[in-house]
Amino acid sequence: MLFEIFLYALIVIATVAAMEAFAWAMHKFVMHGRSGWGWHKSHHEETEGFFEKNDLYAVVFSLMAVALFFVGQALSPVLLAIAWGITLYGLLYFVAHDGLVHQRWPFRYVPHRGYAKRLVQAHRLHHAVEGRDHCVSFGFLYAPPIDKLKAELRASGVLDRERIDRSVTAQGSAHAPVRN
Ligand SMILES: [Zn+2]
Ligand SMILES: [Zn+2]
Repeated sequence: MLFEIFLYALIVIATVAAMEAFAWAMHKFVMHGRSGWGWHKSHHEETEGFFEKNDLYAVVFSLMAVALFFVGQALSPVLLAIAWGITLYGLLYFVAHDGLVHQRWPFRYVPHRGYAKRLVQAHRLHHAVEGRDHCVSFGFLYAPPIDKLKAELRASGVLDRERIDRSVTAQGSAHAPVRN
């Protein structure tokens, strides 16, 4: 019994890690690609109202997790553990991305130190560039070092040093890049 609980917990954790890799690839190659930008574009611009077209991605992935709960219930507890992993990832994604970065919750909390701070700053740099090309940092739970991301942005030549620095601090919870 104890061994089984340990095993399923391990599957849940491995699924969360795999989902971050999957989300990174989806974000980089599909959402910022020609086919997926149509929905994701709304997330790189200021939008009116609470919802944006980009939320449809979350709806699609939630439906897939729900379907997996049904299949897992009927077929195997391993699939059920994977479904829980996907759900947990969705929750962590909501807290990190929609909450900490874009402040889509009814209270205000911006982390000022540690990994959460780096996560927020890295995602602000993801939103620093106009349009779908030359963006950096496509993960949602993993954030590369900020200096590395700044160097990457400088190397692509689309933003000057001053605007890159301002993006980290002045962008706040906004979706659109800071402008001069
Ligand atoms: Zn993006
Ligand atoms: Zn974002």
